Amino acid sequence: MPSATNKKDYYETLGVARTADGDEIRKSYRKLARKYHPDVNPGDKAAEERFKNVQEAYDVLSDDEKRKTYDQYGFYSPNIPPNGGGAAGNGPGFGGFDFAEYMRQQQQAGANAGTDEGEGLGGGSFRDIFGSFFGGRSRQAANQPERGSDLEYGLNVDFWQSIRGTQVKLNITRQETCETCHGTGSAGSNVAVCPECDGAGTVTQMAGAMKFNLTCPRCGGTGRLKNACPTCRGEGRISRPDTVEVRIPQGVVSGSRLRVAGKGNAGAGGGPAGDLYITVRVEEHPFFKRNGDNIDIQVPLTVSEAGLGAKIEVPTIDGRALLKIPQGTQNGQKFRLRDKGVFNARKNSRGDEIVEVVLRSPDVHNERTRELLRELAQVQTTDVRQDIWEKVQPAA
Ligand SMILES: [Zn+2]
Ligand SMILES: [Zn+2]
Repeated sequence: MPSATNKKDYYETLGVARTADGDEIRKSYRKLARKYHPDVNPGDKAAEERFKNVQEAYDVLSDDEKRKTYDQYGFYSPNIPPNGGGAAGNGPGFGGFDFAEYMRQQQQAGANAGTDEGEGLGGGSFRDIFGSFFGGRSRQAANQPERGSDLEYGLNVDFWQSIRGTQVKLNITRQETCETCHGTGSAGSNVAVCPECDGAGTVTQMAGAMKFNLTCPRCGGTGRLKNACPTCRGEGRISRPDTVEVRIPQGVVSGSRLRVAGKGNAGAGGGPAGDLYITVRVEEHPFFKRNGDNIDIQVPLTVSEAGLGAKIEVPTIDGRALLKIPQGTQNGQKFRLRDKGVFNARKNSRGDEIVEVVLRSPDVHNERTRELLRELAQVQTTDVRQDIWEKVQPAA
């Protein structure tokens, strides 16, 4: 592949004369990049191939050193020796693309573009092309509708809100279409502060633990963008606080993700807005524990209630309910209260409440209780630990 690629006529690819200057090459490149951009020609393999070729040609012809080499030898390759075979690969995507070189070039191109009022592009061209290499969609280059991105939001609701459902007003920040430029990002010959570097002219990049200060690729270091809408600084969208009303459904479980359609960031070029996703976290209740659609609760029981049996009141999410405790109930025994759990809208039914009884020792602060317990001890002569003794010894 590389050898075939290397023999291409870059001048022909860009449709310029061999004597063309940098300006002519850049203009032609921009025109062609737009025409063959994958966003404009979805699924068109031929266009994609043309787009790659145009990129490649511009990569070489826009750089004086590379162009000189190309003019002299008829090909240019930074890392593939002329007969080096396919070592660098030429697969889909980057191929033998030299990213660092590309960055440098684009910075230059951006700087030049800042002085080039005729095309009405400002430094936006860098981002357009840059975005296309990372799967990003390129709004200005393609002028294609682009869907807005989704937003994620975490929401805490208390136990009762989760049981009964609730209406919540969320204060979020979302990108809305800029009203000044109606999302186009451009505004005549106005000059705006570069949003990429906030006017500093440099951006910081991390490479592992190292930090680099690079000339801002968007504005080429000027800190300003020409022809950019001053309200949105060429973004076409503005971050604004917004209030979104969300209905939290009855019985929502902690970790549920709710989708609010169209409440994500605004789209570009007439594209639809993204969605807002809300991840709900339900705060714990001190006594009621959610277990799917069931509610678990531990309820204390006196020794006499457990021994003699009783009808006791237990809390449910509906209020108090009567629970019949049979004679001889043991500690840890569980009882089911049907349909006293959480409403499940999908099943259109309710779960149960599961009551676990916890035996409480009697209060022995008065003599009468101790007397009765002594009496009980005389009657109750069975060894409650007999089972253990039988099982705890190793077999003889
Ligand atoms: Zn605007
Ligand atoms: Zn900048």
